[in-house]
Amino acid sequence: MEAIPELNIIKKDWRKVDVKVALCYPNVYRAGMTGLTVKLLYALFNARRDTLCERFFIPTFKEGWRSLESNQPLKRFDIVAFTIQYEWDYPNVLRMLLKSNIPLKSKERREDDPLIIAGGPCVIGNPEPLADYIDIFVIGDAEPIIDPVIDLIKLHGKPRKRIEEFADIKGIYVPSLSNETERVIVENLDEAPHPLAQQVPLVGEDSPYMPIFGKAFTVEVVRGCNRRCRFCLIGHTYYPKRERSLEKVTSIIEEGLRYTPVNKISLIGASIFEYKHLENLCEFIVSRGLEFSISSLSPKSITERLAELLRRGGQRRATIAPDGATMKTRRIIGKIMDDEEIVNAARILLSRGIKYLKMYFMIGLPGEDLEDVVAIADLSKRVADVGYGSRSVHLSINPLIPKPHTAFQWVKTPSVAYIRNCLKMIKKELGNDKRFVIDTYDPRYAQIQALLSLGDRKIGEAIDLVARWSGGLGSWRRALKKCGIRIEEYIGEKPRDKPMPWDKIKV
Ligand code: SF4
Repeated sequence: MEAIPELNIIKKDWRKVDVKVALCYPNVYRAGMTGLTVKLLYALFNARRDTLCERFFIPTFKEGWRSLESNQPLKRFDIVAFTIQYEWDYPNVLRMLLKSNIPLKSKERREDDPLIIAGGPCVIGNPEPLADYIDIFVIGDAEPIIDPVIDLIKLHGKPRKRIEEFADIKGIYVPSLSNETERVIVENLDEAPHPLAQQVPLVGEDSPYMPIFGKAFTVEVVRGCNRRCRFCLIGHTYYPKRERSLEKVTSIIEEGLRYTPVNKISLIGASIFEYKHLENLCEFIVSRGLEFSISSLSPKSITERLAELLRRGGQRRATIAPDGATMKTRRIIGKIMDDEEIVNAARILLSRGIKYLKMYFMIGLPGEDLEDVVAIADLSKRVADVGYGSRSVHLSINPLIPKPHTAFQWVKTPSVAYIRNCLKMIKKELGNDKRFVIDTYDPRYAQIQALLSLGDRKIGEAIDLVARWSGGLGSWRRALKKCGIRIEEYIGEKPRDKPMPWDKIKV
């Protein structure tokens, strides 16, 4: 890959380390460098004197398939570690191996090939679709696992020498053994390391390499969530919520800005809206003349003070995710809030100058009827009626995609026809109203995503073909046909006593 100029890039001498790690994000640089995961793993691996870590992304243009730091091919590394955030990136994982001439299937690799590792929310939930292609999976947080894995590799001299021994490390799933694996977690976030010298691309604001939140210092305030909404993978696989203390977060920011001199802080954490010091933390940031962003808020968390702080912190847009538009559907998904709270939150935000609001809704829920669907339009209008202007309420309306380990793992993925009909109804109600921007997810893609989420090892063959054929719905259709996979068997309703592909994974 042609080097992207970056602050805090780490380049180690290849002759002075024992273990070389290729950290792979199976999508483009802009996506990978927006969150914290790549920066955190990069810091954790490179913190060891005996290890170097270099990054790989899917090329944005024609940069090539080489490491950012020293332009090396994937094949020269001892470990190839993938962090996978979305099921849609599965074909990209295999594409990265293909482009580097690494044998795709685990059983086809030789002792001198790299050890292929994968982690991240989707594979923690269900590693099986990629099980024939990945040597070992990390089930849980990476921090407790990195040292034992590297130490074992050093012990045997070659990374692939005794793959079965990795199963002795808590949190490692070895697909060739199908060992029962219990998730490992960092219990105390205050004691966990946090990257201070973060990589920031030295490019213009309009560059395709610029992360989504711009040049920002990313701080993980909270990990996991206690709410366990019935559809949510994170709520089930990153449970429980763990918070950093206010002292710790503020000291990370103060120290981090010395190494990463930017003027924006990106606050992250699945349940950051429940952080008990959120307002004080925002106050601390704006009092230092800095901007900040928060990915998502709950209506309950939006107070006059917080809205004022958001404005002073440079935020022009807020996001809330009611997911259901009626009390009935919100009860079904386990997300309890009432309409008044949502409308009131919108009113507070607008009164403090937050002029753009994004709201997430889901359709195709079990027990939902068409009244619940039309209610999305009704609730959105009530929200906009508090005074939002043209194109200022952004609705993201998505089909339910059942996830492993959740209460919806047995339910049927809504049909394409049903979702299309729902979207038509909502658009009929709101289509001519200039205040709304409606963005939807193609239900045909949602069905493939559900298959990747709920699939077993057989699905890997289709992913393999799609990786070779360069993606797209047509490729998926052809691949499923060629592999004899009937999608309905995976995304239809399942009996409660049916064994699931992820039964060995104890989250
Ligand atoms: S949807 Fe949000 S609040 Fe619910 S479990 Fe997931 S992260 Fe938590």
